[in-house]
Amino acid sequence: MLRKNYNNDPERKIKPSFCSLGVTDKCMLKCKICYKWQDTGSEKSPTLMQYKNFISNLRGFLDEGFKIQFGAGEVLLFDGLLDLVKFSSAQGFSTLIASNGWLIDEEMAKRIAGSGLNEITLSLDSLNAQTHDYLRGVTGAHCRVMAAIDYLKKNSPDIKIGINSIICDYNLGDLMPLLEWIVNNDKINSIFLLAITQPNNIEVEKEWWKGKNSCLWPKDTRKVCSFVEHLLKFKSTGAGGKIGNSFAQLEAFKFYFMHPERFVSKTNCNLGGMVHVNAFGDISFLCPKSGVLGNIKKKEDIKKIWFSGKANHTREKIAVCRGNCHFLINCFFGNE
Ligand code: SF4
Ligand code: SF4
Repeated sequence: MLRKNYNNDPERKIKPSFCSLGVTDKCMLKCKICYKWQDTGSEKSPTLMQYKNFISNLRGFLDEGFKIQFGAGEVLLFDGLLDLVKFSSAQGFSTLIASNGWLIDEEMAKRIAGSGLNEITLSLDSLNAQTHDYLRGVTGAHCRVMAAIDYLKKNSPDIKIGINSIICDYNLGDLMPLLEWIVNNDKINSIFLLAITQPNNIEVEKEWWKGKNSCLWPKDTRKVCSFVEHLLKFKSTGAGGKIGNSFAQLEAFKFYFMHPERFVSKTNCNLGGMVHVNAFGDISFLCPKSGVLGNIKKKEDIKKIWFSGKANHTREKIAVCRGNCHFLINCFFGNE
């Protein structure tokens, strides 16, 4: 059963709940959780005009204030990204970019301020520079992201800054000090914790947590569960208000770390409600296995694509999938 039944929705009112534009897969960091940086092939990206046409088309379908997320690789490497942010804001969308902070110096922070960006999430895995740089694969990554926070707040006092931090074996002992620092830091609005999963951009490996890519998986899962217990207690106090993860998600983290072989979600996969455009302009659901529905270079109407027979059929398949791909434990956990 679908959570919301698109096929029995004659008025076609059920719209996407999330939209991400993955404008580039390129990145200057070499994170241990993501192998996007190994892909050095050339991207046949849509032009700025094609992106703008898509965003305008989207505006005809979605309500004012809907949030567009710009993400994938390091988005600020995409020439014209801030032009797209400005254009999206002018169309009435709320805008968010996910960045590693490497390119945000004073000059970039001024340009970001000029774009009207509402929100930015930055990756920060520890207050310890060595730990962060080890996980991000490049010396100096910590120094740059810490400077980025200051530059952003100085130039855009109203911007919301969120921190994304991985929970893994390597930084487990650093996470409580990081959390306390964030709670007491007026420049930062929130922290979102991400359970370690199989690195991005590699073939799905069965029982990856036991295989060659498992080095960051916690050796002692009881320790990680005890940390999550602390988080749950901390979140229930006033001081824990900056923790973006829901109580249900934190509970799911404990289950996930104890039983990675079991399906992570108590309900159906919700990615059939989320639309994604990759760096080639392909439109799809967020599930990496769901196939392409269209391409923004072809100027197809997103509403027609969204309610097409192919999209409905794919959504049905997504809703009953028990793939246990671990994709669902983090950003797309939903409200269970
Ligand atoms: S996780 Fe983000 S910062 Fe790290 S390599 Fe991937 S895209 Fe770059
Ligand atoms: S593989 Fe299945 S569970 Fe994973 S995101 Fe796709 S549809 Fe959802």
